[in-house]
Parts: sequence; C-alpha cells; structure tokens
Amino acid sequence: MTNTSDATSNITSDIPVDVAVVGGGLAGLTAAAIAARSGASVALLDSRAIGGRARSATRDGFTLNEGGHALYRAGGGWDVLTGLGVHPRGSTPPNGAFRAVWNGAVVPLPTDTRSTLTSRLLSLRSKRRLGAWFSDLPGLAAGAPDIEFGDWLDGNRARADLQKYLLALTRLATYSAEPEHLPARAALHQLVAGANGVAYLDGGWQRLVDQLADVAVAAGASIHDHTTATAVTGGPEEWAVETARGPLVAASIVLAVPPAVAAGLLGDDPACWCERAGPLNRAAVLDIGGADGPHQLLLSTDEPLYVARHAPVAELAPEGQALHTAMRYLAPDDTGTASEHRAELERHVATAGLPPTGERTMERFLAAPVVTWGSPRVGVARPTGLELADRGLFVAGDWVGDLLLADASIVSGAAAGTAAARRAMVAA
Ligand SMILES: Cc1cc2nc3c(=O)[nH]c(=O)nc-3n(C[C@H](O)[C@H](O)[C@H](O)COP(=O)(O)OP(=O)(O)OC[C@H]3O[C@@H](n4cnc5c(N)ncnc54)[C@H](O)[C@@H]3O)c2cc1C
Repeated sequence: MTNTSDATSNITSDIPVDVAVVGGGLAGLTAAAIAARSGASVALLDSRAIGGRARSATRDGFTLNEGGHALYRAGGGWDVLTGLGVHPRGSTPPNGAFRAVWNGAVVPLPTDTRSTLTSRLLSLRSKRRLGAWFSDLPGLAAGAPDIEFGDWLDGNRARADLQKYLLALTRLATYSAEPEHLPARAALHQLVAGANGVAYLDGGWQRLVDQLADVAVAAGASIHDHTTATAVTGGPEEWAVETARGPLVAASIVLAVPPAVAAGLLGDDPACWCERAGPLNRAAVLDIGGADGPHQLLLSTDEPLYVARHAPVAELAPEGQALHTAMRYLAPDDTGTASEHRAELERHVATAGLPPTGERTMERFLAAPVVTWGSPRVGVARPTGLELADRGLFVAGDWVGDLLLADASIVSGAAAGTAAARRAMVAA
C-alpha cells in the first residue's frame, strides 16, 4: 500500500474536507472507505502506521497478529467488509479436534450435537437443556432480559456443569475474563456468532487493513499516517482537527479512537462515552512457532486460558511449522504481574503438548494489550456513535454499539462514515 502522505508535509488545505476521520484502525478505515464511497471528500489521520490493533508483524517468517485473530463469519463486520469489496481469505479451524481442561484433565470439548450427546462432561439433564437452547439460540438472545449472564443461567436453572461449560465458551467468544457479568443478551448474541464459525486469516489481519485502505484511497480519501490529532475544536458548522502538521478543517468528524482519547481531544465528554463504554478488556498473549502440538484448541474451563493452532489453519507460518497463540484473559481488576501471567500461559501450553521455550523457533509475549476499549454492562446503554450527529460529531470503535470486538469497530465505523458523509453533503 503506497497511498499514505509524506509525514513531514503540511496537511492544512484551503479547501475543508467533508469528513475528517481520526484513527485508522478497522473502525476509522471502514468509516473513511464508506464515506469516500458515498461521494464525500475524506481525510484520515493516525498517530502511527494505520491499522491499529488489526496490524500484523512479521518475525522469523511468521505473521503475528497484534490484535484480532478470529473474524466472526456472522458477526456483522464480515458483511460490511464484503459490501466494500474486501473479501477476507482464510479458513475455519476444524472443531473436531477441540479439547478442554476440565477439573484438571484434558478431555474432548463438545462442539456439536453428536459430541455433546457422547460427552461425559455434561449430565443428561444439562445436555437436554443445552439442546433446547441451541435449537433457537438467536431467539433466546433476542428475548433475553437485561440481566447478567450469570443470573440468566441461574434463573434458567443451569446446573454447575452446564454453567462451567457455557461460561468457558462465552469467555472464548467474547474475550471477557468474567462473562458471567456481561448482559445475557450480549453473551448469547456472541455465542450465536461463535456457532456460525470464525476464520483465521491468511497473511494476518494486516490484509484487511491494506485492502480497506486501498478501497478508501481508490474512492478519493487521503490517509495521513504518523500524524497525531492533539485537539478537535469548533463545530457544529466547521470543525478543526489540530495536528503538528497544521489543522485539518472538516464539516463532520469521526473519532475512531478509544473513548478517553475522544473525550480528551474535545476537552469534554459530551455524551458520557467513557462511562457508557464500560470496563476495558485486556489479555496476556503468547505466540509460539515451531513443532505442531496434538490439539487444535485447548480451552480451559477451570481458568481463563486457551491456546489455539492458527497455522497451518491459516497461512501464517513457514512451510512445515505451526503457529499457536495462547491467551490469558485479564479481568479489569486483575492484579497479577506479567511474569505470573506468562507462567500461567507456559503451564497451559505445556498441558497442550507444545514445545518448551528452548525448542521453539519463535516466541512472542505481549503482557497486557487492550482487547476492547469497553464491554457492555447491564442497565447501561452503550454509545451508539450517533448521539452528537446534529453537531457533525461521530464516534466508532469496539466500545460503540451492540456488537463486540472487531465487529463492533467495523459496524460502528460503517454507521459513522455513512452518517458523517450524509450530514456533510447535506450541509454543503
Ligand atoms: C490480543 C487481542 C486479540 C484480539 N482478538 C480478536 C479476535 O479474535 N476477534 C475480534 O473480532 N477481535 C479481536 N480483538 C479486538 C480487535 O483487534 C479490535 O476490536 C479492533 O482491531 C479495534 O479496532 P478500532 O479501529 O476500533 O481500534 P484501534 O485498532 O485501536 O484503532 C485506533 C487507532 O487510533 C489511533 N489513534 C489513537 N489516538 C490518536 C490520535 N490522537 N490521533 C490520531 N490517531 C490516534 C491509534 O494509533 C489506532 O491506530 C483482539 C484484540 C487484541 C488486542
């Protein structure tokens, strides 16, 4: 991708743009692509190289995702991407080889009707209950009251075995260390998304970033990387994004950055974004390259840990080598140290039969990256991103809207880009 501007040049223009997008992760890139496609003039800035947490690094021949790993096929984002002509290429991990750690033992993880019926993890009564729920999971999600998932399970008389199983699956699908505290609707909705499968992407999520940027630039957007927005002033007729390379003047602004950054740029939190976004999620991550292990996935139901083989499912590793990613989900109030989390991850990957440190061809440890800048909570309405539409101010990201993770970013980016372009062009 060769379309970003020279980071030393001035970005000030005599002609204001219709839409300025601050933040070039999946949310900002989607907003820019959609706004430009609908005919608006668009400029996007990012303080680093574009892509945010969807960037991928290369190391020793391996492609390592910085953030996103599994793209939900029915999560909402996939449809937005394909609508823009961005077709994610990758494969679905084979669920027949999924295993669980259950009360300390490695056992098959039930993933479909047949494996559930034969599983020794669940009682007959729990299997019946699970079968009934999974026969109409979307209906169950849509009709769930605004209560915590843990209370929902209790209220629906889920026994301890079923709770343990479903909470582990929900942790995997939501990246929430404490899925019992999520609203039941959000948890069940994400289980629906998970049941429809995920894809691990060939060449990493960087391919999505590059393709989205290409779509935006082809539609006329300009992209300014390594350009930090320091303040957003003015409005509602004309806004200025202040940068060290001069101000960028625009009719509409999309802030596709964390909630605290959006509030900081405005010097105010006019729609209570920080409070409404909810607590952020972090995870400790260990990537391991080398010899393959016996399991596609080892999900702990005892602790917030999992490890999955990402290559050779997707093209991310040199020929003949495997790439595994292990995660330790971190609750907002987690007080463990990086070395304690690393030790837990090492213990889990040893249980999964993966090579120890000295026998790996590559390893990378990320202590506590932010997975999402917010999680939904019972009784709190998440930001829609459109609350300040009449002022020409929009927000997008994984803390906006009803969806979770990258789907929230892409779908809220699409909504913000569409509305920002419409507002700017009506006003012009
Ligand atoms: C370890 C990990 C695993 C994950 N796994 C999954 C997964 O399997 N599935 C899934 O769906 N999601 C997953 N996610 C989440 C997913 O990666 C994110 O939800 C998504 O990439 C966020 O995109 P975004 O555009 O909202 O934010 P970001 O990618 O964070 O983009 C925000 C951008 O704003 C820029 N910025 C910030 N401040 C400024 C400023 N002042 N001026 C200019 N630019 C600024 C930043 O540089 C950044 O590029 C994972 C994340 C992590 C960390």
